[in-house]
Amino acid sequence: MQTKIIANKYYDNNQSDNNHSLAADTKPWNDKNAKPFVRIKNISKVFGNVAALDNVSLDIYKSELFCLLGKSGSGKSTLLRILAGFEKSSTGIIEIDGQNMENIEPYERPINMMFQSYALFPHMNVEQNIAYGLKRSGMKKAEISQNVEQLLSLIKMEGYNRRKPHQLSGGQRQRVALARALARKPKLLLLDEPLGALDKKLRQETQFELINIQETLGITFIVVTHDQEEAMSLATRIGVMEEGTIAQVGEPREIYEYPATRFVADFVGSINMFEGKVIKNEAADLRINSPELDVNIHVANNIACALGQTLWFAIRPEKITLQKEKPKKRSNFAKGIVEEIIYLGDVSNYRILLNSKKRINVTRPNISRDEKEKISWDEEIYAVWHENSGVVLAS
Ligand code: ADP
Ligand code: MG
Repeated sequence: MQTKIIANKYYDNNQSDNNHSLAADTKPWNDKNAKPFVRIKNISKVFGNVAALDNVSLDIYKSELFCLLGKSGSGKSTLLRILAGFEKSSTGIIEIDGQNMENIEPYERPINMMFQSYALFPHMNVEQNIAYGLKRSGMKKAEISQNVEQLLSLIKMEGYNRRKPHQLSGGQRQRVALARALARKPKLLLLDEPLGALDKKLRQETQFELINIQETLGITFIVVTHDQEEAMSLATRIGVMEEGTIAQVGEPREIYEYPATRFVADFVGSINMFEGKVIKNEAADLRINSPELDVNIHVANNIACALGQTLWFAIRPEKITLQKEKPKKRSNFAKGIVEEIIYLGDVSNYRILLNSKKRINVTRPNISRDEKEKISWDEEIYAVWHENSGVVLAS
């Protein structure tokens, strides 16, 4: 709480809008009349014969913590560098707060960027590192030290003023770099793999801090990451990148529950996928025959498709249940043998070898400690799902 109050003093020019707790109907991306803060229109970037970005369009709203998620080489850093003005796009327009950035130099843009290697100046102490940009802007000494104190409080590192970078932990260095990037009060902060140098536990802690700081300040963050869990826990919305294009944009839950393509379904979380052909296509009744299953797939939520068309049915491991007795229904299950069980404490992961020789993954919460409920290796089992539990993908 204390951090919030102090931080609001530092960032007096804005509201602490918190998209993470906004109701669905007040989310700007659901409002057709809302004005985007960052507007990326038809941006392409070619390096030699590599299309690093291919006609990317994306609107980002004020106070969002937007994550660009994608594999290495998918164009994430290139997009950030174009936003910051370090790189010129081959085509397209960038607008920030309604202003076209075409002829605006990087240092004139209301943006700061925190790089993948957030190297601090090693010979400068924490205070000097944070104050660096403020000094260059000609701010008075007293004001600088007031700002530095507020930033140190924001990152919960009061009293660390005189420490040198080598006297800090990785997490602390990361926070100092964040304070340095925030010092000049950018309207938009771009963070390229900000937590990449931290180990897993520290990453998770720092993720929460990052969200706290972003929500407190209310400024817009665009965070690049290749880590899907990180994107899920940080983002107001995620843009999934695939080879220089945006494959899907959505809130974390939307991306996870309703992936738009096989690429997104497979890249975000783990999923079981069955290929098949449409054998019935009526309102709220889509049936798919897959050679990988003994019975048909029946889906209640229909998509636009034609009889005979090839589709993919995708279902997450936690949305399948396992049972020993044969289901009474005539669709949406598979018989198989338990091939592997990985006990993780809270859940167990089961790998089931189906009659068709296809393997599927099922996650079950370990609700009971009772051995009777136990499913064992090599046991014959039915994997069963509900007609609303999966998604149908056309590409
Ligand atoms: P990401 O950040 O998602 O890993 P990048 O934006 O760095 O991806 O790179 C996207 C593609 O553009 C890659 O194929 C990369 O090799 C290429 N690329 C990036 N920067 C340059 C450059 N300065 N010169 C040539 N190719 C580049
Ligand atoms: Mg990169």
